[in-house]
Amino acid sequence: MFDPVQVRSQFPIFQQTLPKGLPVTFLDSAASAQKPQTVIDAERRVYETHYANAYRGVYRFGAQIDDELEASRDAVRMLLGAERVEEVIFTAGTTLALNMVAFGWGRKHLKAGDEILLNLMEHHANLVPWQQVAKQTGANIRYLPLTPQGELDLTRLDEFLNPRTKIVSVTAMSNVLGTLNPIRKLADRAHDMGAVLVVDAAQSVPHGIVDVVQQGIDFLAFSGHKLYGPTGVGVLYGRRDLLNRMDPIIFGGHMIEQVHLHESSWAHLPAKFEAGTIPIVQAIALKTAIDFVDGLGFDAIHAHEQDLVNYAWQELHQIPGLKVYGPPPDRRGAILSFSIARAHPEDLAQLLDRKGVFVRHGHHCTMPLHAWLEVPATVRASFGVYNTREDVDRLRDALLFAREKLRLKAV
Ligand code: PMP
Repeated sequence: MFDPVQVRSQFPIFQQTLPKGLPVTFLDSAASAQKPQTVIDAERRVYETHYANAYRGVYRFGAQIDDELEASRDAVRMLLGAERVEEVIFTAGTTLALNMVAFGWGRKHLKAGDEILLNLMEHHANLVPWQQVAKQTGANIRYLPLTPQGELDLTRLDEFLNPRTKIVSVTAMSNVLGTLNPIRKLADRAHDMGAVLVVDAAQSVPHGIVDVVQQGIDFLAFSGHKLYGPTGVGVLYGRRDLLNRMDPIIFGGHMIEQVHLHESSWAHLPAKFEAGTIPIVQAIALKTAIDFVDGLGFDAIHAHEQDLVNYAWQELHQIPGLKVYGPPPDRRGAILSFSIARAHPEDLAQLLDRKGVFVRHGHHCTMPLHAWLEVPATVRASFGVYNTREDVDRLRDALLFAREKLRLKAV
């Protein structure tokens, strides 16, 4: 039985009270999630007992580190439903992983006139790298439009997919609208055209089951820090045959097979894409984070977060002048971005902080999406496993307080 209060008790950060006795109402897990004690302890244990560089030493500490890294790689493989452990590459995070696909795959395989299909809800991490690659190769980026509710307009896919489409890159869950995108359908349509499907799973991995094989995903990226794991580590999954046809973009130690004075050759997967010293301790503790979410169960996590989103949707809509962007709760993940008429998002975020309610404001690295929404910025509340309905109540009350402070009451 999923008990959010018990889950919350596993996170030391929530054991404090803020000045004036306020609890920490953390509603910014979409930016980065808090860490359970087990993850904090896992990092500490490595440093305190057997830290060494990875894939280098035969002495016992080095060997133990290697074993733990491989155990973590296998835990990621199982989390993603991947077939082979060498399809899991440790990276610094989603951003690096997407850059690796853009420059390692895209720059190698795209020609002038080819097309990359994106859409208006993408995070800059899944947009700017493609712009750069398009400039370098002469490929064109096309943007699939959104429906008024902030979902991909699949009725227009036929216009946007054609034999020139070589890459379709999409977020599995919008970091602003919460929209959940139909990955299997997009995979099928992309594959029909001979394109590869790249999935930005930074937001979706912490909230639901991913299965790269069943969903037909060719490349997928996510970050450890949004999955209750450490910062500094993330993952690129790639189908083995594709990774073997992709170039590395970072060169140096460990990723080589032979180095001569003017030529080098690359190591086998996954080392080919793991140049230099990887984030060893963070990658090991990523397994502890995966064990944590596995222990809770994704079905239970999903049900809990769905309850919070439903409740927040209902409570926020009681606030005069408040507009939530994106689809209804049953078609979104645990994110609600909103604005209040005549209130600046930064003012709102600052006033909420006075009540110990932590939300993000701004464009959330989605400027084209905000241009489409016709607002420069929004306020975003996002939920994790440790949030409760009381957090939603405090958000609602803090927003009412903010309205009062901003003298919006009469509206
Ligand atoms: N894509 C999405 C959808 C995100 O929400 C984020 C994080 N805000 C990223 C990519 C980038 O992740 P990171 O900063 O961990 O590289």
